[in-house]
Amino acid sequence: MTPLKKILIEEISANGPMKLADYMKRALADPEHGYYMQRRPFGASAADGGDFITAPEVSQMFGELIGAWLADLWHRMGQPRDFCLVELGPGRGTLMADILRAANVLPDFVKAAKVHFVETSPALRAAQKQAVPQAIWHDYVATLPAAPTLLVANEFFDALPVQQYRKHGKDWLPVMVTKNNDNLVLADGAAVASPFSDALITCLPDTINNGEIVESAAAAESTMQQLAQHIAMHGGAALLIDYGHAEPACGDSFQAMRGHGFVDPLAEPGLADLTAHVNFPMLAHIAETAGLTAAPIIAQGLFLEALGLSLRSQQLIQLSPEREADIESERHRLAAPQEMGSLFKVLAVAHADMPPLAGFSPQAP
Ligand code: SAH
Repeated sequence: MTPLKKILIEEISANGPMKLADYMKRALADPEHGYYMQRRPFGASAADGGDFITAPEVSQMFGELIGAWLADLWHRMGQPRDFCLVELGPGRGTLMADILRAANVLPDFVKAAKVHFVETSPALRAAQKQAVPQAIWHDYVATLPAAPTLLVANEFFDALPVQQYRKHGKDWLPVMVTKNNDNLVLADGAAVASPFSDALITCLPDTINNGEIVESAAAAESTMQQLAQHIAMHGGAALLIDYGHAEPACGDSFQAMRGHGFVDPLAEPGLADLTAHVNFPMLAHIAETAGLTAAPIIAQGLFLEALGLSLRSQQLIQLSPEREADIESERHRLAAPQEMGSLFKVLAVAHADMPPLAGFSPQAP
């Protein structure tokens, strides 16, 4: 039994069942035993000790294209001399290192950028410092400095806790975690009438069947509210990439990964990565409510191809012909619909004064 599982079973024995969102939060971010506090989650395979692989770790091309997107946007927004280049949940710092290297084509962008990271894990902060030594770290979006902001987040929102509710006639039953001897198991909590925020209600499907699960993401909502308010006040844009849905949807998306395979999310708290799909329509709605514009939510494959993924892969193959098969397979992994191309979505939100955002429609620059 993992140390955290033992602690949680004792707590449940003393206090009764806990909400699923509280379980997810503890399993990921418990200061002593949380997954992100101790594990080194990223690796190309289970043999590398990793549990999953993210787009920037698949290929340098991902960060390079985003670096070009950011540098171009900065140029067209009037080249502010002092701006915050922010990343939420930077992992090993690979994405930002690739962004800054690619953006060197516009040295003034790199000179003007003050890099800020929002990161909860001390172990990952140490890795990020190796990759991007000049970064400034924050615990929360709320402490970012008052300046125009270009922000990126890849696979950040999926790591924030969700609370599931099961439809039960006119009511909703919160999904709880309780114990059965030495095991953690799910159970229904006491019925509640209307557990959802206005933002979530706006983005639910028109009909939800009895017994269906709806996921409420309070932490994602408040983070999005803070970042939208920040951009509304100081200018800029945010590019959010994650797996999730582009249309209103419901259902159970809570899952755990360990060693590149799916595992039971309740079996080994602290040792497996827990995630839930991101509700992109809701994040877009929150941004629009704060006065920002939101580009259409599109699939990662389409976005990367619009930014020139094929062209960039051809360039890299010309530079290193011996890596052709690897580069082709990286491109396929990032953009093919059966790989990360369709499941992952891209949402960009921007201050109303920003120029058009590239990559979201055939007409965009
Ligand atoms: N963006 C990286 C890492 C994704 S994993 C990549 O694409 O490779 C999720 C990241 O978010 C990790 O760095 C994790 O420590 C961080 N994180 C998770 N919850 C967080 C929270 N509540 N506040 C700040 N960072 C968080």
